[in-house]
Amino acid sequence: MEPKDTTTNEAFKGFTNSACPFFPCHRGVKGEFNCLFCYCPLIAYECPGPYTVFTDKNGVVRKDCSACILPHEGFRKSWNFIQRWLEYPVPWSGKPQTNPPTRRPRPPGRENEGPDD
Ligand code: SF4
Repeated sequence: MEPKDTTTNEAFKGFTNSACPFFPCHRGVKGEFNCLFCYCPLIAYECPGPYTVFTDKNGVVRKDCSACILPHEGFRKSWNFIQRWLEYPVPWSGKPQTNPPTRRPRPPGRENEGPDD
């Protein structure tokens, strides 16, 4: 158990840096704008976000996350989203997002457990 699991203070789940010159970097966030995941922890993993794919000048296939607000939408909501998807991170395939979006990966044998979010 970690300290964050025993506190009722949820301040660690997010913050808004309204002094950032890029703020708001993504439009459409309705709750508190969470800057904690400015560099999304899911960038190298499968995720449900509406990313597009491009190849950079070095020939590396990357995600363009300009249209994604999932890591920014509300302190608690975005915190919970990132924690759930990091429970069983699966390296990104390098392929475009699917329709419907990628389901949250589970360990082998537990594919159908838990809510699909
Ligand atoms: S699409 Fe969204 S959730 Fe996925 S890596 Fe990009 S910012 Fe993170």
